[in-house]
Amino acid sequence: MFPPLLILYDPNLELSEVEEIAEHLVTTYNIKIQELKEYKLDYKTYDKKRDQFDGQKLLNMLIDKENLRFFFWIVKNDLYVPAMNFVFGLASQYYGALVSFHRLESSEMKIKESIHECGHILGLEHCQNSCVMQYSTSLKEAEKKPSSLCKDCQKNIEENQRNF
Ligand SMILES: [Zn+2]
Ligand SMILES: [Zn+2]
Repeated sequence: MFPPLLILYDPNLELSEVEEIAEHLVTTYNIKIQELKEYKLDYKTYDKKRDQFDGQKLLNMLIDKENLRFFFWIVKNDLYVPAMNFVFGLASQYYGALVSFHRLESSEMKIKESIHECGHILGLEHCQNSCVMQYSTSLKEAEKKPSSLCKDCQKNIEENQRNF
C-alpha cells in the first residue's frame, strides 16, 4: 500500500486551490493525504539570469536533505532543468514530485499536470495512449491530452499499489 501523500504548497497559493488538487489526486489514485503544508522555495536554487528555479535541485533537497518521501510540492514560480527551457513539473518515482503553476492558468490544466506528476510518484512512466501520462513539452501538447489515466496505466497503478 502506498503511504499517505504529503502535499506541500507555496504560501502564495490559495488553500482552496490546493484542496481542489488534493481531492482530484485522491479520487484518481485512491490514495490518502497525510497533510497540506505551506512550504517556501529555497532561493539557493534560483537562477537570476533565467529568472527560474532549478527544479532538480529543489527535488533533491527534499529527498536528500529533508528526507521526505511521498511528497507532492506545488509551487508558483517557473521551473527549469538544465537541458530544458522550462518544465511544468518533475518527479522521482516513489519519492516525490514538483509541479509549477507558473505556466498553467486554468484550474483544468493545474489539475491535469498535478495528476500527471503524481502518477510518476506512484511509479508510472510516460505513456503513448490517450492518457494523462503522455509526455508534453509545450502547453499545446499538455492541453490536448486527457486528464484521466488509460486502462494500462490504471492497471499498473493497482499493481504498484499492491506491490509497494
Ligand atoms: Zn512526466
Ligand atoms: Zn496511460
